[in-house]
Amino acid sequence: MTNDPQDKDIVNENSLSALLAHFRRSGVQFLPSADQNRVQQLTSQSQASVLPIQLPPAAEKTGSSVSPVAAATSSSPTPSPRSRFSPVPVSHAVSAPKLESYAGPSLPVVERASRLNEIAGEVASCDLCQVLASSRKHTVPGEGNPAARVCFLGEAPGADEDASGMPFVGRAGQLLTKMIEACTFSRDDVFILNTVKCHPPGNRNPAHDEVENCRGYLERQLDIIQPEYIVCLGLVAAQTLLHSKLSIGRLRNQFHAYRGSKVLVTYHPSYLLREPEVKKAAWADLQFLLRDMGIELPRK
Ligand code: URA
Repeated sequence: MTNDPQDKDIVNENSLSALLAHFRRSGVQFLPSADQNRVQQLTSQSQASVLPIQLPPAAEKTGSSVSPVAAATSSSPTPSPRSRFSPVPVSHAVSAPKLESYAGPSLPVVERASRLNEIAGEVASCDLCQVLASSRKHTVPGEGNPAARVCFLGEAPGADEDASGMPFVGRAGQLLTKMIEACTFSRDDVFILNTVKCHPPGNRNPAHDEVENCRGYLERQLDIIQPEYIVCLGLVAAQTLLHSKLSIGRLRNQFHAYRGSKVLVTYHPSYLLREPEVKKAAWADLQFLLRDMGIELPRK
């Protein structure tokens, strides 16, 4: 990105069309369109009265190369000035996935909330997986904004989530919260879901039949939310949603399609806690998402 004012226009146009698409998906029935003659008139008036502005020398607009996630959680020494300001190596493919649309209509937000609550009620009394149903303390159906642009999809609740009934509240959850906040969102802006809604005992991976028993709940939740983006956190979420057997390494760096949503695959926060040096790659994934969403990170 250069300092060419036209670049700014492109960013603004992308943000505007993303915002309009979001309004439509959120059930807004009518969007007034501007009177073109009046727009023309105001544009020429403002162009006549605005003095040319001298822009500062070229600066990277896509935000800092230092992962705020790593910065917030790492105890390693401050990176050298060179590594702090060198751009993030971005190898993400730019080709757009072929999206289908969600089968059902885009529902008003109140209706979404009530349908999501209905599903949460069904999950709470689900006994399709006998082992999970008999060992769980709480089911963890997910939480967040029913009109979210972005859903984060995890694997299955851990012990902390089992105890509270809320997704991603343990150590991995605290890191996920930092990742969400680094994207300039709050947890209330997004929707956080798990592939499997019950805690697998001993924190084992969910078994294949457990994933398949829970798939219907996940698909119905996504049909209701119809997010613009789904971020798959780790292998179980990615392989389940995309019906894939590929590794995270093969699935990253591009958008996939799930019905009407663009799907981004990145590392699970638990993995990032075990392998902190991978946080930089996860931050590059989130920056790729933000660029596509037309969201500019505030400059440091
Ligand atoms: N890991 C997950 O995948 N989900 C949670 O809710 C917590 C930890």
